[in-house]
Amino acid sequence: MRAIRAAGEGFTADALARHYAAPLRDSTAHRDAEWLGDWPEYVARTRFFFGPLVDTALAALDRWHQPALAEEQKRRQIAELVAGLVRTEGFAADVRALRRALPLEAVMRQRLRELPSWGRASEPAPKGEVLFHYSVDGERVPLTLGGRRSARWHAALARAAGHVYANDGRPLEAKFAAAAEALLAPLRPGDLFPLVRWAVAIAGALLRRTRPPVEEGAPDLAAAPVAQPLDAKLATVGFLPAAATHLRLWWPTDLLRRRIISDEPLWHVCPAGVYQLRQQSDGALRPVLHPENCIKCECCWRATDAIDWGRPGRHAIRYHPPSAAWERLWAQWQAPLPAPIAPHPRPEPDPLAVVPEAARPLLGKLATALRRVETVAAQMARVADGASSEWFRHLADLPRQIGERLVEALPSLPPTATEEFLAALARIGEHAARGRAFWAEADARMVRFHWLPLLAGRETGSEGSADRSDEFTDLTEDFRQRWRARLDAHFDRRACLALDAGEPLSPEQRALLREAATTAAAAPPPERLALVRELGATDPALGWLVVEHLWALDRIARAGAEAVRARLPAGAILAVAECDPASDRCPRAHLALADAIVIIGGPRDRLILRDDPGLRAEPLRTTGLRAAGPTSLDLAEATAIATWAAPDPAVSLATARDFAALTLGFIERMEARALEQVESRVQFPGLFQDEAGRDSIAKFGAMKQLVGEIATHREAVATLLFEPEGLATAPDPAAALKCLASHAVGTDMGTVAYNTWQVFGGMAYTAHDTIGKDYRDASEFRFLLAPDDRLVRALGERLAVAENPILSESTEARLREITLAGGPLAGAAQALLAAAQPRPDPESPTAAVDRAELALRVWRAAALTLRAARHDAPEGEALVEASRLAAAEAARWAAELADRGRRTRAALALGEALR
Ligand code: SF4
Repeated sequence: MRAIRAAGEGFTADALARHYAAPLRDSTAHRDAEWLGDWPEYVARTRFFFGPLVDTALAALDRWHQPALAEEQKRRQIAELVAGLVRTEGFAADVRALRRALPLEAVMRQRLRELPSWGRASEPAPKGEVLFHYSVDGERVPLTLGGRRSARWHAALARAAGHVYANDGRPLEAKFAAAAEALLAPLRPGDLFPLVRWAVAIAGALLRRTRPPVEEGAPDLAAAPVAQPLDAKLATVGFLPAAATHLRLWWPTDLLRRRIISDEPLWHVCPAGVYQLRQQSDGALRPVLHPENCIKCECCWRATDAIDWGRPGRHAIRYHPPSAAWERLWAQWQAPLPAPIAPHPRPEPDPLAVVPEAARPLLGKLATALRRVETVAAQMARVADGASSEWFRHLADLPRQIGERLVEALPSLPPTATEEFLAALARIGEHAARGRAFWAEADARMVRFHWLPLLAGRETGSEGSADRSDEFTDLTEDFRQRWRARLDAHFDRRACLALDAGEPLSPEQRALLREAATTAAAAPPPERLALVRELGATDPALGWLVVEHLWALDRIARAGAEAVRARLPAGAILAVAECDPASDRCPRAHLALADAIVIIGGPRDRLILRDDPGLRAEPLRTTGLRAAGPTSLDLAEATAIATWAAPDPAVSLATARDFAALTLGFIERMEARALEQVESRVQFPGLFQDEAGRDSIAKFGAMKQLVGEIATHREAVATLLFEPEGLATAPDPAAALKCLASHAVGTDMGTVAYNTWQVFGGMAYTAHDTIGKDYRDASEFRFLLAPDDRLVRALGERLAVAENPILSESTEARLREITLAGGPLAGAAQALLAAAQPRPDPESPTAAVDRAELALRVWRAAALTLRAARHDAPEGEALVEASRLAAAEAARWAAELADRGRRTRAALALGEALR
């Protein structure tokens, strides 16, 4: 339409044909539609594709994995199955229809003719990994297809899949051609031998003209259901919508262009009236979108570049095929998720199995940059303002920049792979530059899932680095997602509120939490932290039960008392309770899940069974963490089944990290709620908007400050959790980490719980939301593990006694370098160097606590600044802003401390003078 207007032509049939229909016919989507012209009809009429074919494939897999059968027997039985399928009435007609509908033969024939030689070297990239997930009755069965050649064919399959799924504008025909070439490239003469054996076996079965006996429970192919009528098929098609919008309007930053956008065809072209442009009383234009009305015709996307249109991946078409297979699939889908899939074994040596040390940090940076592209693309508002689009373009170019440095550090990467890897990264930025955020998101995900595991080297890449850096937490993402799904299914908002109100855990909830506790105890650190983090995001009270179990095991292990575990029932879950030795009472224990309790607080730890007849337990009505089953204990008549010398220190770094992971998950949930609220709640509509045209309460500076402080706390806890060297100067890093984590959650002004509460305002008081519960739960964090005030005082005393500088020499030197280099972090580094200098007045009664409080803030800001510098984080990046905010807070504390010293001295002098 714009072209017709630009050419000054009228909307005649001829002009529409030239300017609209012809480019449309030339588009990839149209060519694909032509190529697959018969496909919809085939799907409508087939009785085989979703039925007997699936059943035969499953039955064949079943035969192949029967351990009692020899290979020849398996081949013979599978051949019989295939022969049975071939003989089914209508099969030949269906195959003919399929060949018409999916014209792959021509593509394959062409590629076969072009094969230059047998056994052409299979190029190692761009291979990702194709994982087959095969389960029988919910039990995962490792697939053993392909025998010795499996690695070669897996790689070829992955390359082929890479071509088919690429977001590169090639028509399907070209993609399938490239996929065929990738599949056939590693073909060797020796591969023909098994093919011939299979062909002979199937031909033999056909010639025998016998039907195999129908085993009980096996699919009877002859009795396969006949075709569903088309109407019946259509009636089973359902659409599961995505929660996030699939439309985004790029709202121009340029004020003049805002007027021009009113001339866009967008406001008229949509048949569903999704786009509306309203004029406010002050004359400002305000776009309003109703994506839920969209009928997915794509007209808007073709009519203007102002629209980004995608399929964010969460929505789906659901179809009920006429096969018993779907029932099995559905049962498996409903069943608890299986154990994590073990990495696919790589029988052939991988040239990149050992990642050079220099490449590891870059791999981490790349993983973070890609995930950020995905997250930002998915979370961008329906109407994206100029700053957002500019910011997104910048983010989407970062993976390419990092990738260029990465390939230099990976000399073993073959040239073709290097080229394709860099091209894949460059495409992300190109999509973003063209306003195709959904495509950029999809390509970023593709690189993260397909390239990174290869480059990281599954066997070695996750070791060490995963434990040290949040950059590699991406490798635990699948694990987190699986647990998230399970926890969400058992602990939704209503369930958490019910538990908080005093309802006991249901048997299913109890079983899941027990499994979480035992899984976390046995898992390597990255998975353990990921699981605790997910529990914290679900409900901190439940997460705390698991952290306490881990804490108890840690104490037992550090005391060398592992033998006492033999006296506990298998899979016992432990709690930890601090006892007042004078009264032999524990003011508070959390017993919702516990089978036994480790009693601490004296020179020796004690282990007491939960059902010990002498144990007196009194439920407590506490403010927060009620779902954890708070209880007071009287131990006077209880009998310990074991005792051991209490380990020193009381809290190890591993336990503090578990606590920090719990805190991080909790913060992430509160942050998500706060952001959702500021973006969705509108106050004073139309009265004014901020520079990005926002009408929600996000336009208020106070809200921006609140969410900024929340983000700073989240960044700080994540930094200290995954890069604990940020606390290297602390005399007790575990105590420092614990204090900083609970300070972050807290309920004081500027903490996450306080700010979230502020964002919600009066709405936070509703009993139907978890916000009030979160606030009460947060108020308990400073008492968990070990009370903050005790730890802070101990930290301050150790700092003062040892005359320790707050920052180590190496940290100071690095901060000076950052200051000298200039850039976005120079100011923060300079402020920190100054803040670390003041010494509290030693005479002051609060000197120890003051010094520790200042040190905690300086360590937090220094860790953030060093991390931001290591990532080369640019201006405007959240990490940089968090570093600045944290440094400013440390500087404020230092000034306050100096001022307090001056005030104290002046008061003392005045007292002297008055005496
Ligand atoms: S795809 Fe079609 S229905 Fe959906 S918003 Fe665009 S024009 Fe409207």
